[in-house]
Amino acid sequence: MYDYVVIGGGTAGSVIASRLTENPDVTVAVIEGGPTDIDRDDVLTLRRWLGLLGGDLDYDYPTVEQPRGNSHIRHSRARVLGGCSSHNTLISFKPLPGDWDEWATAGAEGWDAESMDPYFYRLRNNIVAVDEKDRNAIASDFVNAARTATGVPRVEGFNKKPFHEGVGFFDLSYHPENNKRSSASVAYLHPFLDRPNLHIMLETWAYKLELDGTRATGVHVRTKDGEEILVEAGTEVLVCAGAVDTPRLLMHSGIGPRKDLEALGIPVVHDLPGVGENLLDHPESVIVWETNGPIPENSAMDSDAGLFIQRDPAANGPDLMFHFYQIPFTDNPERLGYEKPEHGVSMTPNIPKPHSRGRLYLTSADPEVKPALDFRYFTDEDDYDGRTLVDGIRIAREIAKTEPLAGWLKREVCPGPEVTSDEDISEYARKVAHTVYHPAGTCRMGASDDELAVVDPNLNIRGMQNIRIADASVFPTMPAVNPMIGVLMVGEKCAEMLAAAATRGGDDA
Ligand SMILES: Cc1cc2nc3c(=O)[nH]c(=O)nc-3n(C[C@H](O)[C@H](O)[C@H](O)COP(=O)(O)OP(=O)(O)OC[C@H]3O[C@@H](n4cnc5c(N)ncnc54)[C@H](O)[C@@H]3O)c2cc1C
Repeated sequence: MYDYVVIGGGTAGSVIASRLTENPDVTVAVIEGGPTDIDRDDVLTLRRWLGLLGGDLDYDYPTVEQPRGNSHIRHSRARVLGGCSSHNTLISFKPLPGDWDEWATAGAEGWDAESMDPYFYRLRNNIVAVDEKDRNAIASDFVNAARTATGVPRVEGFNKKPFHEGVGFFDLSYHPENNKRSSASVAYLHPFLDRPNLHIMLETWAYKLELDGTRATGVHVRTKDGEEILVEAGTEVLVCAGAVDTPRLLMHSGIGPRKDLEALGIPVVHDLPGVGENLLDHPESVIVWETNGPIPENSAMDSDAGLFIQRDPAANGPDLMFHFYQIPFTDNPERLGYEKPEHGVSMTPNIPKPHSRGRLYLTSADPEVKPALDFRYFTDEDDYDGRTLVDGIRIAREIAKTEPLAGWLKREVCPGPEVTSDEDISEYARKVAHTVYHPAGTCRMGASDDELAVVDPNLNIRGMQNIRIADASVFPTMPAVNPMIGVLMVGEKCAEMLAAAATRGGDDA
């Protein structure tokens, strides 16, 4: 029995467990499916991130068939302390004011830009610009060529002030001196592991919530040794298992769309039709060039710079983004017959505010069976998403023609200069489309009377007691920028709400 049980020692879960245990009178159990990241150079060295994908620290979720997209996408989700912040590239953007204000408009009262700003400055992560020694010459030349070709300003420090357009080196959560991650676990858990009130259960899987009617009292877990135990929460259960595993756990516990649960024979405890709906992501495509020769070795994590463009003057922020990779990123094009050049670079046009919405659902009552992820990529009615990628590839080609980048490039490998019509570019761009691993939104926050909202603005599951969700699943809409900092800020705000509720002597459901 603990005061709080945090399910998932990932990005948001690490923040919450750390903040809660600052109070020595509060006991916290963290249920984490993966092992520790301590002394794991393969995890802690940022530049080794690509080697983690698809390995034994990856839950590796497939997507269902995507008729207008790429059906072969595998969604990496980290199975290790720190969660995806131990797996990812740690690109660190404070969400833009328009991103938060969109949440408030969607019913998340109190989550507007002005209210959220202070949480950014509380973050313990070492958020710094890509270090000078890690600035690769070809990435610098991309930045200069993109500025000339598109006219957007060069940005030095994307978090210094809100932007709609800009090109430059990213801010990262890392320690440049040794390329060590400043993940959620490194920043929020490692310094406090000796707290007697913090109990982290590693390689322990939460498979069902313990509910007394609509009140959460604990969680059933399976330990590394196969032992099944009930971990009880005297005060609250915090579900922080991420945008895939949070709705999965809820549905296996009987919380979700009645019709779907009944069809699988899962007894319904609480009919909540929004669980699993509103599956969001940032899809992106890729255009690859062979370079005239090898590229210098130095880098923070091989995708250190990027570009934001606002095509539509009426948009609320950037509506096209690019990561610049100092590697030929041909995993998906190779399936269409393209060959990987020995030396090359890639630009990845990305849709900051995609219009398509997907859905996550169970296909079995067996908690071991992975849920189905149907992102419905490129299915929006007016083909906004598909057209964004076409614009992206055309702009990427203009940048590639511009010095000082042009001098590095030998030829466009894929889609190749012969692919020129909108239809052909779109077909290529969608078929090789990839994810930047940003699933979100599957337990979205909304007003207390919003039927499809899963949590209210206090992160309480609507209609239930003693249980909140805090992770990427609560995002009502996708930020235009990479989401990890937003998730950490959700964690900070949740911890503050818990402390306030404890002072008042109860939850605020
Ligand atoms: C390869 C990759 C690159 C990315 N790059 C960036 C980037 O550069 N910048 C950026 O902003 N975002 C990036 N992202 C996205 C970002 O990392 C995520 O949006 C964010 O970390 C999600 O945090 P979370 O707390 O929702 O979930 P997670 O961090 O995934 O935490 C969930 C935790 O719960 C545990 N868990 C799950 N289910 C259970 C269960 N049933 N029982 C016990 N434990 C469980 C998991 O092991 C995990 O530790 C990237 C993601 C990936 C995978």
